[in-house]
Amino acid sequence: MDCDLVIAGAGMVGATLALACGQAGMRVVIVDSQVPAADFRDEYDLRVSAITLASRAIFRNLGMWQDLVQRRVCPLREMYVWDARGPGAIHFDAAELGEAQLGYIIENRVVMYAAHTHIARLPAVSIKCPVMLDAIEMREAGVAVTLSDGTVCTAQLVVGADGAESHVRGLAGINSRGGSYDQIAIVATVRTSMPHGEAARQVFLASGPLAFLPLCDPSLCSIVWSCDTRYGKSLLDLEDSAFRQELQASFGDRLGAIEWVSARAAFPLGFAHAERYVDTRVALVGDAAHRIHPLAGQGVNLGLLDAAALAEIVGGAFQLDRDIGASGVLRRYERWRKGGNLMMLAVSDAFKRAFGTDYWPVRAARNFGLTVADSLGPVKRLIMRRAIGLEGDLPPLARSVRAED
Ligand SMILES: Cc1cc2nc3c(=O)[nH]c(=O)nc-3n(C[C@H](O)[C@H](O)[C@H](O)COP(=O)(O)OP(=O)(O)OC[C@H]3O[C@@H](n4cnc5c(N)ncnc54)[C@H](O)[C@@H]3O)c2cc1C
Repeated sequence: MDCDLVIAGAGMVGATLALACGQAGMRVVIVDSQVPAADFRDEYDLRVSAITLASRAIFRNLGMWQDLVQRRVCPLREMYVWDARGPGAIHFDAAELGEAQLGYIIENRVVMYAAHTHIARLPAVSIKCPVMLDAIEMREAGVAVTLSDGTVCTAQLVVGADGAESHVRGLAGINSRGGSYDQIAIVATVRTSMPHGEAARQVFLASGPLAFLPLCDPSLCSIVWSCDTRYGKSLLDLEDSAFRQELQASFGDRLGAIEWVSARAAFPLGFAHAERYVDTRVALVGDAAHRIHPLAGQGVNLGLLDAAALAEIVGGAFQLDRDIGASGVLRRYERWRKGGNLMMLAVSDAFKRAFGTDYWPVRAARNFGLTVADSLGPVKRLIMRRAIGLEGDLPPLARSVRAED
């Protein structure tokens, strides 16, 4: 098979990149070792993502936003963050920025559904799954990729969008620095007696951050409870009613009574950053390049910006009939994305560590910091604009075309 690029990993980031490159006229082969969960069901997916306005712009510019909105997207108008072990609290309101929303909560499965539906309409993009990417071999004017079904694809570029344990990263010999947080994130859907009011809430507990993210149904939230592995496993072992009581005791009554909790799932948490995002005819995007704690809700947003930046750069080379895998092209991508990602990783890691200790000077400093940041309008607005994707060196695909929904 001949193509322009092979993408390993058809998750949210890889699928978005395939769509962007396919729409730019490139011939793309995208492979995934599993059949991606890309469907729409009545019950809410346990995996949801808070997405920024920059990510919304990417989805909109690729033509998939209306699909998402028609299915299920909850706007995020406010955000409350507080420390359970002190008075520190901060409140973000979209109105303070003159925006209608701070972002959105979207089910991962619904994003995948929209991306894969649009990919299926592009004859130049072929998806292969369940198929592994087995080997990458450099050739004189390109690269040959061997897939586990025996297919050999020749291309100019291979992209690793294959997640935190990226096989492509390993094949390219790119080191990734990082480690485990010794935490797991428990996710579930919960029903509360009071409506969430399209606000997200996150409390920093001694065991880790607990977030309630609003879903379209005003009485339903998706929770992400990041906690030390041993405590987390004990929570997973609890009967539903005991888990509900523990959740209520930890979160408090800001949303009234927690009336119902769905099945639970859990994911190990860690941090990592690839030493390089590119090598000869190889580029990394998304979790393959960086892994971040979910407390800041930034992981997939950074990955989508990677995809948008890479699509912009290789798309430019493609239009000029240049080699899209040339090292100069790939270095531009790395320079564009690496610094900003590293900064976001460092900030999230600092938050994780500052809120993960009971050492009183740190506790006092973080509570003071939250209270001061909350009262300083310009500082707060700066933090908000950056976090929701209105600031920064955004790729054209991530810039809003219109202010309205
Ligand atoms: C509990 C939790 C909550 C989160 N909440 C948020 C949030 O609110 N906002 C946010 O921005 N981020 C959030 N994140 C982070 C976000 O989920 C990830 O950053 C995002 O899913 C990464 O997407 P990806 O496509 O890069 O990788 P993945 O989603 O890991 O996809 C990788 C794909 O590659 C495939 N694959 C793996 N190996 C191979 C191979 N050898 N060959 C072919 N295919 C392969 C896999 O099957 C998979 O489909 C959260 C994470 C967790 C754990």
